[in-house]
Amino acid sequence: MAAETETFAFQAEINQLLSLIINTFYSNKEIFLRELISNSSDALDKIRFESLTDKSKLDAQPELFIHIVPDKSTNTLTIIDSGIGMTKADLVNNLGTIARSGTKEFMEALAAGADVSMIGQFGVGFYSAYLVAEKVVVTTKHNDDEQYIWESQAGGSFTVTRDTGESLGRGTKITLHLKEDQLEYLDERRLKDLIKKHSEFISYPISLWVEKTTTKEVSDDEEEEKDEKEEEEGKLEEIEEEKEKEKKKKKVKEVSHEWSLVNKQKPIWMRKPEEITKDEYAAFYKSLTNDWEDHLAVKHFSVEGQLEFKAVLFVPKRAPFDLFDTRKKLNNIKLYVRRVFIMDNCEEIIPEYLSFVKGVVDSEDLPLNISREMLQQNKILKVIRKNLVKKAVDLFFEIAENKEDYDKFYEAFSKNIKLGIHEDSQNRAKLAELLRFHSTKSGDEMTSLKDYVTRMKEGQNDIYYITGESKKAVENSPFLEKLKKKGYEVLFMTDAIDEYAVGQLKEFDGKKLVSATKEGLKLEDTEEEKKKKEELKSKFEPLCKVMKDILGDKVEKVVVSDRVVDSPCCLVTGEYGWTANMERIMKAQALRDSSMSSYMSSKKTMEINPENAIMEELRKRADSDKNDKSVKDLVLLLFETALLTSGFSLDDPNTFGNRIHRMLKLGLSIDDDAGAADIDEDMEAVGDAEETEGSKMEEVD
Ligand code: ADP
Repeated sequence: MAAETETFAFQAEINQLLSLIINTFYSNKEIFLRELISNSSDALDKIRFESLTDKSKLDAQPELFIHIVPDKSTNTLTIIDSGIGMTKADLVNNLGTIARSGTKEFMEALAAGADVSMIGQFGVGFYSAYLVAEKVVVTTKHNDDEQYIWESQAGGSFTVTRDTGESLGRGTKITLHLKEDQLEYLDERRLKDLIKKHSEFISYPISLWVEKTTTKEVSDDEEEEKDEKEEEEGKLEEIEEEKEKEKKKKKVKEVSHEWSLVNKQKPIWMRKPEEITKDEYAAFYKSLTNDWEDHLAVKHFSVEGQLEFKAVLFVPKRAPFDLFDTRKKLNNIKLYVRRVFIMDNCEEIIPEYLSFVKGVVDSEDLPLNISREMLQQNKILKVIRKNLVKKAVDLFFEIAENKEDYDKFYEAFSKNIKLGIHEDSQNRAKLAELLRFHSTKSGDEMTSLKDYVTRMKEGQNDIYYITGESKKAVENSPFLEKLKKKGYEVLFMTDAIDEYAVGQLKEFDGKKLVSATKEGLKLEDTEEEKKKKEELKSKFEPLCKVMKDILGDKVEKVVVSDRVVDSPCCLVTGEYGWTANMERIMKAQALRDSSMSSYMSSKKTMEINPENAIMEELRKRADSDKNDKSVKDLVLLLFETALLTSGFSLDDPNTFGNRIHRMLKLGLSIDDDAGAADIDEDMEAVGDAEETEGSKMEEVD
């Protein structure tokens, strides 16, 4: 009975990826073997995990192994594993019709100059087979389905056929028909070296099918003919001697095949840290993570006593492309119980903010047949988690000892540290020491909070910060004027997550963190300053009232400011409400519930600068005529401008634009009923007369 062959088209992006792999020149083709072995190892992990709760899952093939078979007669290299295998649906989905999120990202990375060896990180490692093979045949048997053959020479499609041939029992066999110029991958030495280099720490035995030459003893009779020939060639004397020695026996070489185990399987975490070289850790890290670069830092430790476990934690050099992708598994710690792999996405083992830390944990105490549900409640796991967090944070402090390393670390993972400050109240204070910010005094470098504290001025009790979209947007903010004048340093918090983190942190080293843009900024004054301020306050009280009347609900109140020195005014938010920056972040989150926004974002206080000439002039006008139309216009314009300089956005930019145009007309002495087109013309005419324009504007004010 001939089985039916079905043909499938590769999904478009996968097809693109395949052409890229096949048609681009990459020097680093050897990584294909690591990728396929890593897939085998994952498949073995899966079946071993299933067998922990149901032993019969192993019945069809009790051994767990990876076999590698080079065959020079057919120019094929075959990788066989007794892993979980694939059902027909798995084959169709996993190897061709459903693109992973990483497919496109990987192609973009390649286009941007990334190395092909990064393929594994993007979850498309299988396709690296086409770096060396012109045709790939995958035979696979899953416990729940029949055996199937997947076959493709790329070129847009693949086929799937029911396999009625010899059964694998369970697992997957991948046969690579090597390209003519890739036959080096049939060479034993080359394969052995490759496996050692890339897959040494795979925790299943990897065996290579090797040629073995044995010397066999045969009787003289069988060798007679050969002897005669050699005698003719004139080697008579020597052979006579040998014959004497060997008496009646002779040795011949015979070629046979056998499995040769290539990887040491003693897990690295069971060895003593002082006996492990940096290269060994790097090799282990790479096999664990598919990373193509070495790790940035490692911590290998064991906990003994009431509870016992060993762990190795790594910090990578870069953030993965999908660091905060919520679809991805939450952590990268592989959990083992007494050397048996249990799972690699146990959410309870490490908090989300540390999801970039990779490694293994091997517990002596957890039961082998532990289920996910049990893990959620498990006390042992809680203790393990606590220890992992502590050690990971210790490791970050170790990285911080080297500036260059820490810069790298901070660039990649500062968001995680900030998320930690937001979520992990127990470690908040410690994590805060890892923060770095630009500031009014830090120049190009960043400063830690600790260093900030050492630079605090006499009489300065609080740590000041400003939040905003970018360094550029905040460094010249009107909110900083007074602080700068007093010589107080202000931290620039320009990461969206800073708002959340600082909201939880509240203080550092006993000093309050105070926002320069919120109410509650109180700066110490001398007696003289205080007196002057009181005077100004009462002088401007009437203007504040007039302004509040004009602005109505737009502001909570209008008060005389303590923080602006040069600008006429600014808008501050309530100490516990959102800052302008937070409002911006929240508006950007389209699907948020809007009730929170109206509650958190409504409280703005207008602070006016009594020493600013505009305010003084406004005060005079308002004093002489409360109903002066120009006062109303100016107050609204000041408010709208303050929205912008304080980091808010305008609800109605058109009205603002009209107001500005009206002012421009006044400045340019144009009749109120002149059309917009006329203004444009006039504008061009006075294009380079900015100075006169400016001074006229002042006259108008
Ligand atoms: P990744 O392994 O990163 O998920 P791959 O492109 O290498 O991406 O493999 C795609 C999928 O194909 C795997 O997730 C797995 O489900 C399946 N697969 C690949 N190789 C094997 C194998 N040897 N045994 C079982 N399943 C496999």
